[in-house]
This record gives sequence, structure tokens and C-alpha cells, in this order.
Amino acid sequence: MAYEVVIGLEVHAQLLTASKMFCGCGTAFGAAPNTQTCPVCLGMPGVLPVINRKAVEFAVRTGLALHCTIAPMNRFARKHYFYPDLPKNYQVSQYELPICEHGWLEIGQNGTSKRVRIRRAHLEEDAGKNLHAGIAGASHVDLNRAGTPLLEIVTEPDMGSPDEAVAYLKTLRDILVSQKVCDGNMEEGSFRCEPNLSLRPAGSKELGTKVELKNINSFKFVKAAMEYEIKRQTKVLDEGGKVVQETRLWDTEKGETAVMRSKEEAHDYRYFPDPDLVPLRITEEMIAEARKSLQELPEAKHKRFVSEFGLTEQTAAVLTANPVVADYFVASVTAVCTSGASKTDVSRDIANWITVDLPGLAKDFWTHIPAGEIGELSALKRKGEISGPIVKAVLEERLKTGKSVAEIIKAKGLVQVSDEGALEKIIDEVMAKNPQQVAQYKSGKEAVFGFFVGQVMKASGGKANPAKVNELLKRKLTQ
Ligand code: ADP
Ligand code: ZN
Ligand code: MG
Repeated sequence: MAYEVVIGLEVHAQLLTASKMFCGCGTAFGAAPNTQTCPVCLGMPGVLPVINRKAVEFAVRTGLALHCTIAPMNRFARKHYFYPDLPKNYQVSQYELPICEHGWLEIGQNGTSKRVRIRRAHLEEDAGKNLHAGIAGASHVDLNRAGTPLLEIVTEPDMGSPDEAVAYLKTLRDILVSQKVCDGNMEEGSFRCEPNLSLRPAGSKELGTKVELKNINSFKFVKAAMEYEIKRQTKVLDEGGKVVQETRLWDTEKGETAVMRSKEEAHDYRYFPDPDLVPLRITEEMIAEARKSLQELPEAKHKRFVSEFGLTEQTAAVLTANPVVADYFVASVTAVCTSGASKTDVSRDIANWITVDLPGLAKDFWTHIPAGEIGELSALKRKGEISGPIVKAVLEERLKTGKSVAEIIKAKGLVQVSDEGALEKIIDEVMAKNPQQVAQYKSGKEAVFGFFVGQVMKASGGKANPAKVNELLKRKLTQ
């Protein structure tokens, strides 16, 4: 029998707040175990939680970016379960009144686009982590993550293939990152997804029994886990069996899913409104503020980078993938443009340094070199004081020594050589060393011209002004 795949996704996005959802503890990743805790997130008796305003702002902003309705009144609920990483034995979440509902986002482009409906997005707190690795005969608990703000974003079962589900996840992640509410890091667990997947006879309108998949920490594995699950469920149905509603864990080593637990129902969690937290009112003013804080969406930014800065689709995509890098690029370009250059004149060079040279030199280059200095470098190149090949050497030195761009150029004698006398001397030497190529050029083989340019640039240590070299070479070779 032919089956149709139905997928709905639950995503947990860690919000980029400095402090936790209901206490003042920090949220930085990688701190020593249990150093970012306090009586509130340790679940001590008698403590009282306070809602993190920033987390609420981020949820509203994300809701607006996802075309959701923002609930004027929403409420936190306790979801009860027992696990060592959950000190209170309940997780504060939202149940019947989530902060955002009924949104959508669009996946795919150019005519093949499709809307995926967002059922809801609600605020909740994260649990801690159980640590098993390298500990003989015991497990330890790290509660640093306990109480970190999460936004859980749940779709309708609108996706019909693993590829569509992955496209949804990538689009959603790009939106969250662009809105500066989540860093989108799947490996570190700040963007986690749980696909729900079922099969039904092709053409049927009724939903089949679904399985929820957990423990997936990369886009590659999401796809692999869903593909495995489709095969497994197909086999069960083909053999006349029934899919059991359950939660299954993806096993990266084996490339399989295995049962974790049978399906829990809402009543198993004994949800009830948290009596320690007041109902959360979202005023018109808060929504208006959030609307003002909305960041340009990834697709719009990508289009704008192509048209406004004259970049290729590819370069624009690399620059806009990380909003910090995109901002850095704009700031660098703006810095040169205040001195009279036009955006399209300088963008290509600057984009090249930012997407090719700098990432090769330092992972977080933007924290080391102020954008203004990239602008300065571009201005010097425009004035002809330094050549393209020198730029990389300057950037390298800039990162190594922390000296300013101007200082480096002066100290290293990297200033471009435009002096005709000096260049002619180099050209004469190169020609004298390569009489065969000179003869070839003179007999009409113009392709060797590039060879001469290369040799002259090399002989000058990359400092020769390329435009001048071209001009002089042409003159000398045709003499
Ligand atoms: P649960 O109570 O198990 O969390 P929900 O109905 O709340 O289930 O749905 C959770 C997610 O599973 C949603 O993204 C939803 O779209 C998706 N989903 C629900 N039913 C199905 C189904 N039969 N097949 C695939 N996905 C489904
Ligand atoms: Zn705390
Ligand atoms: Mg679920």
C-alpha cells in the first residue's frame, strides 16, 4: 500500500536572555556544574519565582515574526513529572493559555512556497542535565540549565516529507536568529526539535497514529531519524500491524530509533495553573514596543543585500546567515561611505574580506577588529595606498598584534608602490629573466600577459599597484 507521510514539529528554542526564566541566575553555556544556581532554580521550598521581562519580550517579538496572535492574558501552569534533573518535580510551562497562537511561516521559494501553520508558542523553563559520561557507577546532575527560558514552538501536522520538515526547521532557525532571540545552536542544545511522524493511506483525510522522536542534535540526524521512522512504520503497517503511539529515541550510533516510553497523556502531567505566578498581561503598549523591536526577516535582508550592495546571491546568503556578521558588514561599508565612496564600489571588497579572509584568521573576528577599521582599510585601498594582496597581510597582523591598521601599514612598509620609476625597474628585471615569454607575447600570444603581472606582483612583495603594473607592462611589452 502507498502511504502519505505526516509530520508536525515541536521546537524548543533557548531564549538569549542574560538571566533565567524565574530567577536572577546567569544562563551562559559551559560554566562549571551547579555554579549558576540559587534556591529558586534549585527548587527549594518556600521560594517565589518572578517572571523574566526580557523572556516575555522575546516571546512576543517571535510571535509577531511568526504571524501569531498574542494573547492579552496568558498564564503559567505546572507540568508534573519525576526526573532527577527537575528539582521541583514540576516544570513551569504554559498549558491552556499560551502567549502566542495561530501563526505561520513560509518554506521554500519561487513558486514552490508553502505555509506551515504554527499552532502555538509558549514560554517555559528548561530542566537541568544528568551527566553519565566518565563517571563510574554513578550519575551526576548539573542544574545550571534548570530554569533557563525556552520558547516551545509547535506546528500543525502540515509537513509531508523529511525534506519539508528540515526546510521548516532551517527557516524557523533563521527567523529566531535574525530576531536575536536565540543563537540557534543545535549541538549545544539551544535549538532542539522533536518531530512527530505518522503515516496514512495515500489520499486519506484521517491522521494516523504518530510517534514522537527525541534526542536529535543536528539537521543531518533529524532527516535520518525521520527516514528511518518512515521505513519502520511502513513495515509495521504492511505486515498488518498497528503503529503504537510512543516516544522513540534516535540512536546516532545505530542509526535507529528505539522506544523510550509509551505515550503520556495530558492528564498524566496533572497540569494546573501555577499559584505562585500572576497571570501575565500583555498590553497593547508591549505589543507596539515588540513590533518596533522586530528585526528584518532573513529573506528580506538577503534580497536587500543583493540590490543595495550589489552582492551575489551567494555572498549575500553567507553575510546574512549571522545577524552579527551582517551588522558588521553594514557598519564597515557605512564607515567608508561617510568618506564619499558609494556602497557598490566598496561592498564587494569588504564582503570578500568578511566572508573569506577574516573567518580563516579568527572565528569571532568581529570582536577583535572594530568595523571602522575595516572601513579604513577599504578607504586606503580605494586611494591606492595599499593593494588587494596586502590587505590579508594587514588583517593577519592586526589580529596578531592588536596594532591599528595605519600603524601596521607604516611599520611594515606595506604602502603600495605606484612610483613609475620603481615599477619600471622591477618590470625590466622580470622581462630580462623571461626572454622566451617576451618573445611569445610579441608574436601575438597575449595569454602570457597574466604571467608577467603575476611575476611583477611577486617581485614587489605584493606591493605594486596592480593598475599601474598593467599600464606599464602593456607599454613595455609592445615597445
Ligand atoms: P502531544 O499531546 O503528543 O504533544 P499534540 O497533538 O499536542 O500531541 O501535537 C504535538 C505535535 O504533533 C504537533 O506538532 C502536531 O502537529 C503533531 N501531530 C499531532 N498529530 C499528529 C499525527 N497524527 N501525525 C503527525 N504529527 C502529528
Ligand atoms: Zn536561580
Ligand atoms: Mg508532544
